[in-house]
Amino acid sequence: METKECNKWKQLKDKKRIVVKIGSSSLNHKITGDLNFTKLEKLVRELCDLRNQGKDVVLVSSGAIAVGRKAIGLKEKPDQVSIKQACAAIGQAKLMMTYQKIFAEYTQVVGQVLMTKNTMLDNVARKNAQNTFEQLLRVGAIPIVNENDTVSTYEMRFGDNDQLSAIVASLIGADLLILLSDIDGLYTDDPRENKNAKFVDVIDKIDDKLLQMGKDTTGSDIGSGGMAAKLTAAKIATLSGADMVIANGKDVRVIHRLIEGKKNGSLFLANKDEDFYIADYIEDNMY
Ligand code: GLU
Repeated sequence: METKECNKWKQLKDKKRIVVKIGSSSLNHKITGDLNFTKLEKLVRELCDLRNQGKDVVLVSSGAIAVGRKAIGLKEKPDQVSIKQACAAIGQAKLMMTYQKIFAEYTQVVGQVLMTKNTMLDNVARKNAQNTFEQLLRVGAIPIVNENDTVSTYEMRFGDNDQLSAIVASLIGADLLILLSDIDGLYTDDPRENKNAKFVDVIDKIDDKLLQMGKDTTGSDIGSGGMAAKLTAAKIATLSGADMVIANGKDVRVIHRLIEGKKNGSLFLANKDEDFYIADYIEDNMY
């Protein structure tokens, strides 16, 4: 059993198209809410090194609202949609400026892709987004994706970037999605509340019992995706044919360890369903 599971982790060495998602709570210092530059630099180096190994790389980065909130001196997480959107407008530009600067140190070109649910539901917009990703990857750029928070009203929101990253993985036919989170992976129960909660290494199939394990909490006041969102992301990614890993983003060097085939976090195995169609899934389940 152990050997079989180890082999599953080893398969990650052969992944060719990788989506990495990092959340706001992993990008910012907990106490001040300011960007953690040390971590950002390490993240960028990891991603550039994946590119240097000839892999296609996409980064889904949150942080727009958190960075914007700091820029205008808001102490609390805003509730009002228009304030969040204003924060996102300010923060997204600042975040991209920071990414551009650090990626440029490795002479790595990046591009910004902002999406809404409409991008996925509208046939023309979805095809355009798909073509743009293809072209960006063809020219060796790393697309940096976020939800277009400034224009997406409540009904049109993906809600959190865990699900957005799985949707992107599905859209571009990625074979691996890595969710960098503030937790180590999947437990049978919330480990902060239940000392008997057990860690789950490899998940072959996402069934209802597993979905029940997801608790809609995140443990931080910065990000928005709890375990339930991660399990939905896992469902989308695996049905689309990608493996998905939830790993702790406190040390982003976990990325190259995973690509070296080392066990880290929880691995959800791809379970491709030829009839799974991402736009229909969004329309039926997220609309
Ligand atoms: N799109 C939001 C932002 O960039 C974050 C959503 C999330 O953290 O899941 O601030």
